[in-house]
Amino acid sequence: MNLNQGRNYVAIPGPSVVPDRVLQAMHRASPNIYSGEIVGLVEGIIDDLKRVAGTVFHSTIYIANGHGVWEASLSNTLNPGDRILVLSTGLFAKGWGEFAERLGVDVEYIDFGMRAGTDASIVHDRLKGDKSHLIKAVLAVQVDTATSVRNDIALLSEAVRSANHPALLMIDCIASLACEEFKMDGWGVDVMIAGSQKGLMTPPGLGFVFFSEKARNTCEGASLRTPYWDWNRRINPEEFYFYFCGTAPTHHLYGLREALNMILAEGLQAVWHRHEVLARAIWAAIERWGAEGQLEPNIADPQSRSHAVTTFRAGPPHGTKLRNWTEDNAGLTLGIGLGMDTPDDPDSTGCFRLGHMGHLNPHMVLGALASIESGFAAIDYRRGSGAVEAAAEVCASEFGKPPAGD
Ligand SMILES: *Cc1c(COP(=O)(O)O)cnc(C)c1O
Repeated sequence: MNLNQGRNYVAIPGPSVVPDRVLQAMHRASPNIYSGEIVGLVEGIIDDLKRVAGTVFHSTIYIANGHGVWEASLSNTLNPGDRILVLSTGLFAKGWGEFAERLGVDVEYIDFGMRAGTDASIVHDRLKGDKSHLIKAVLAVQVDTATSVRNDIALLSEAVRSANHPALLMIDCIASLACEEFKMDGWGVDVMIAGSQKGLMTPPGLGFVFFSEKARNTCEGASLRTPYWDWNRRINPEEFYFYFCGTAPTHHLYGLREALNMILAEGLQAVWHRHEVLARAIWAAIERWGAEGQLEPNIADPQSRSHAVTTFRAGPPHGTKLRNWTEDNAGLTLGIGLGMDTPDDPDSTGCFRLGHMGHLNPHMVLGALASIESGFAAIDYRRGSGAVEAAAEVCASEFGKPPAGD
């Protein structure tokens, strides 16, 4: 007997759940792409993206996924042979660094492993040691989607500044924008990149590069810049189509407009707080499950855990077995273990991930956790009891508290 009918829940860390309001906003005829409402729509979107990013400077929209804005950010800022420092805390900063290598940039990595965040003092010391300022930029992710670590970007920025080093600080917020607190100008971030399909609740296909006036000025002559990625023309378009270097991504824009309406109506502080509480509900469940057997969160320190994605360590082959069970029997798709392979577990079958970004409420999180509980029972996985109850209590504890204000 299979009970799996009804609405599926793809609870992977991107693409995230697209709200019905966003889908409905996209379901319409094509607009004029030269003039009319699309022009004001884009201007409003750019202003609101900047509000979400916490910057008064520049925002560009590319028809691209996250990998596209990896390249856009590098090509606008660097020259072949420039040295950059990449802070690796999983897979994604490393991937960004590998793009830079392929563009001819000299990349130095500091690897913080797969189970912890960046150590700002190590970064500070490395920059202090770079007396002739060879390092042009420091690259890191806010959230690494493979390990589910969250790096403290304010602390990293302080490490760069207190070393009196001119390197640009470039942050990948693809998994975290509109999920985790982020203050681009307040924290002194020079370049930030994001995508439409995670916290911004819009289908994959739009990438964003935000950059400060300092980044714009210091990178004026970047020789890796190519016509399509060039950010200058996109922020000062003589004609509307220069915003996108061609046809506007019309329907994505309608969807994104609606998603931004939802985020700003809820309030950014409230959005961040909701993600935090729902993440704590998930951690409470893991703690109970882990009281017996081997289940544990990949990131031990709660301060370094993402509020948008959680990587579970269940031990091989239980992660894969559980994922298969929930997908086949409960309508719940969990994320695969990514880059968590070891010699004993070459296919990362011990890990699975739960995405909890964007359009999310307690019944989705509690339903996912209860389905995982069901899956654990079905595969006869040893675990502690009371996990779903503990998560429910975290959600209940919010009731009656004043709203988080902007
Ligand atoms: C998803 C993700 C990417 C890659 O985005 P794509 O749209 O898949 O190219 C890059 N960095 C981080 C942190 C991500 O979460």
